[in-house]
This record gives sequence, structure tokens and C-alpha cells, in this order.
Amino acid sequence: MSNELTEKGYRCYTGENIDVYFNTAMCQHSGNCVRGNANIFKLSRKPWIMPDNASVEEVKRVIDTCPSGALQYREK
Ligand code: SF4
Repeated sequence: MSNELTEKGYRCYTGENIDVYFNTAMCQHSGNCVRGNANIFKLSRKPWIMPDNASVEEVKRVIDTCPSGALQYREK
């Protein structure tokens, strides 16, 4: 767990090889994440982020399209 991110208001979504962090207050609702890969990011599901539903490379690729910084990742 990255304390540095959780202290800034990010919530951690744990995966086997990569953790995803999301800060709802920073989200600009561009939809790039859910359009980028609906297996990883799905708003109607709990948890809405499931890092293990795609490869580590795919998780990183989609998160790199987030324009606000609301999504971050930490590889293990
Ligand atoms: S890509 Fe980033 S800013 Fe856009 S909806 Fe997803 S988390 Fe929010």
C-alpha cells in the first residue's frame, strides 16, 4: 500500500501484480478509463476497479490515458 497516495485521498484497489489507486475528488469524468477497458473499470460493479481482469501492461496503458491524475498505479 502506498501511504503517500492514501494520505492524499486515494483509495487502493489491490491486484496480484499491480495496485490501482483512485481519488474520486480528482476525477473529471472523462470516461477514458471505462471506455479504455470495461473489464478493469466498470462503474456498475463493486469493486468498480479490478486490476487482475487484464494484464499489468493493459492496466498501465489505460491509466496513462486518465487526464486528471485521479488514477495511479504501483507495480509490485
Ligand atoms: S479516466 Fe480518470 S478522469 Fe476520466 S473518468 Fe476515469 S478516473 Fe475519472
